[in-house]
Amino acid sequence: MLQIEGVGKRYGTGEGAIDALMDVSLTVADGEFAALVGPSGCGKTTLLNLIAGLDEHDTGSIQVDGQSPSAEERLRYFGYMPQEDLLFPWRSALENVSLGLEVQGVDKREARQRAADLFPQFGLAGFEHRRPHELSGGMRQRASFLRTYLLARPFLLLDEPFGALDAITRGQLQSWLAETWNRIGGSALLVTHDPHEAVALSDRVFVMSPRPGTITNVLEVDLPRPRTTRAAETEAAHQLIDYLRHETEAEEVIA
Ligand code: ADP
Ligand code: MG
Repeated sequence: MLQIEGVGKRYGTGEGAIDALMDVSLTVADGEFAALVGPSGCGKTTLLNLIAGLDEHDTGSIQVDGQSPSAEERLRYFGYMPQEDLLFPWRSALENVSLGLEVQGVDKREARQRAADLFPQFGLAGFEHRRPHELSGGMRQRASFLRTYLLARPFLLLDEPFGALDAITRGQLQSWLAETWNRIGGSALLVTHDPHEAVALSDRVFVMSPRPGTITNVLEVDLPRPRTTRAAETEAAHQLIDYLRHETEAEEVIA
């Protein structure tokens, strides 16, 4: 279980300092899929970076199962799929996907085999030797997700994984993620600015205010699992989505 308590983060010092996060508290239970929704610039990526151990928080605590792991320990505990797909243009899809394992010290041939075995499940069969620019946006995101998935971390942090895609591809990938999640399970914190995506995929939604970011509301998404994106088309789901839209739009007017 992830427990964040009173976390604050300031960038810079003196007059130019920016309070990115202030008094952020949230928990994500084992096996829970949580979403974090908020306007651009409210500190969502900052929070994921702190959780993942890429940066240090100034105040508060980040606990995992009641322990306080160091930033370095968190780097090994959380799987992080960043906002940009970060695929190297000169490496093939397979070489990109296996990279995470290779960096961890897994033998190159074994890493490539383990990656290749999962290409069909991730809708990438036949594209092993293509370069990133030869893949569609949706395929690049699936490749990026597969690279993160291969590290077999118990907790995934996903930063607006579908944000840069067109609406149709985004819808397809949301369905795909819902189905994949039904199969693989684990805990996740998904950052998104799309209320529909948050409701379609998650068990709970945390709403964040503009800078300095803090959690202003928590919504339970009481839709049946295993989830399909059709679950987000029910009346109950629509009410939640409308409510979230209202919340986040109101925030953006203030911003
Ligand atoms: P979001 O992901 O919600 O769009 P970010 O976490 O990227 O927001 O940014 C939150 C705020 O912190 C923004 O005002 C941004 O300009 C600022 N910020 C983010 N990273 C840095 C940094 N490394 N140095 C200084 N300011 C930063
Ligand atoms: Mg961001």
